[in-house]
Amino acid sequence: MRTPERTADVVVVGGGPVGCVTALAFAKSGRRVCLIDPDAPSNRLTGEWLHPTGAGILTNLGVSLTEAGVEHAPGHGFAIFPNGESPIVLPYDGGERGIGVRQHLLVNAVRAALARYENVTVLSGYRVAEVARGGVTAVTPDRETTVRVAAPLVVGADGRQSIVRQALGYSTSCRPLSYMVGVLIDPAALPVADYGNVLLGGPGPVLAFRVGANQARVCIDVPADRVAWVRNPAELLAAYRPALPVALHAAIADALALGPPQVAANQLLPRRAYGRTGIALVGDAVGHCHPLCAVGMSVGFLDAMTLATCRSVEEYTGLRRTAGRVPELLSMGLYDLFVGTDDGTPELRAAVFHLWRTSAAARRDTMRLLAVRETRRAALGVTFARLLTVASRQVAIGALTRPVSRTLGAVAGFGRWAGWFAREALAR
Ligand SMILES: Cc1cc2nc3c(=O)[nH]c(=O)nc-3n(C[C@H](O)[C@H](O)[C@H](O)COP(=O)(O)OP(=O)(O)OC[C@H]3O[C@@H](n4cnc5c(N)ncnc54)[C@H](O)[C@@H]3O)c2cc1C
Repeated sequence: MRTPERTADVVVVGGGPVGCVTALAFAKSGRRVCLIDPDAPSNRLTGEWLHPTGAGILTNLGVSLTEAGVEHAPGHGFAIFPNGESPIVLPYDGGERGIGVRQHLLVNAVRAALARYENVTVLSGYRVAEVARGGVTAVTPDRETTVRVAAPLVVGADGRQSIVRQALGYSTSCRPLSYMVGVLIDPAALPVADYGNVLLGGPGPVLAFRVGANQARVCIDVPADRVAWVRNPAELLAAYRPALPVALHAAIADALALGPPQVAANQLLPRRAYGRTGIALVGDAVGHCHPLCAVGMSVGFLDAMTLATCRSVEEYTGLRRTAGRVPELLSMGLYDLFVGTDDGTPELRAAVFHLWRTSAAARRDTMRLLAVRETRRAALGVTFARLLTVASRQVAIGALTRPVSRTLGAVAGFGRWAGWFAREALAR
């Protein structure tokens, strides 16, 4: 067995979207980078909507999907369909645009940009097997070839099962949330073109958006206790029929008739630990949450850009600890709000829809949070307090005409939500 030695300033473990952007950010600042990944970018079900924040980072790093010939589509914001009612359109603040793109094509484009840098080495077909402060050891699948890469900074961009995270001694146990069933359809069936369509009123939210001129991605959120639907298209289609416009339902049925859909597990691992001297984590290796708000890649790209400008992992941790937590809280809070049925939740849900329909300020603030433009806890707090105020007012008005027990249940439910927010968002 050969064990060649290499050296670099930074070794990045994992060549997914965040690992590639991390390598590019360090390469641009003149550091010698070694990027290690075992696989060519795969066609699995994963993130395909990039907020303007993430799209802007790609542009600043010199990645142009148009120039790279990668099929993609513009995303102007979200169109929310509450229970079959008319859509609420939430455009990005200031007319910004996101991108819908198949992730493996995006990763190929970033890898092509990396190839322009002489200070970058890519070890494809190697999996990192050992991590220590000062470097990593990578092996080929047949274990015939081993490479040791010495570097003062090791970056774990190796996703949910991160070996770098394990080497740091952090827990990798996630909370299972639900499953995502994914199909590709003709974009003509989308209710609102060029927006991320979020269809509510089924057992879980359905997301649908264009990823190119001729393709749209549909992600159907299936509750964990309904996992059997994943392999039963007839039951799946029947369960979500009330939430879907006829054309979209028919397009999903056509796609399911072609063969089994792609499936992914949605899990929560809160973003709390970012590494320590000499070893840092970025992207899903830090944590991951429900993909309803499509923040995973944008948050990971912000990790990458911050790390590349910090003098130490400790400085990086300090900067990202709060900023990384706000998009996660928003994602988890909105998901629970959209699917929850316990006391107080339907009233809060109605208040959100009312606010979005009636207040331009609420729409703008929500989109700044969703787009990861606003990451201060105080901003999330203001949005949440405004929501509770509107919901309480609506409940107070409704109290005159409905049973006292329902009003009391709603008030208790608001208290639980306020407790959740205080525990999760305000805790140091
Ligand atoms: C169904 C679904 C839909 C989603 N939708 C969106 C969306 O629309 N928008 C969005 O922004 N986010 C979305 N997300 C989240 C998004 O996919 C992730 O946040 C993003 O892919 C994380 O990128 P990453 O590079 O950190 O990790 P990954 O994409 O998991 O990449 C990790 C890389 O590390 C490599 N690797 C693993 N182990 C090793 C090792 N030992 N040695 C070397 N390499 C290794 C892997 O081969 C892989 O290439 C979604 C997630 C799911 C599940």
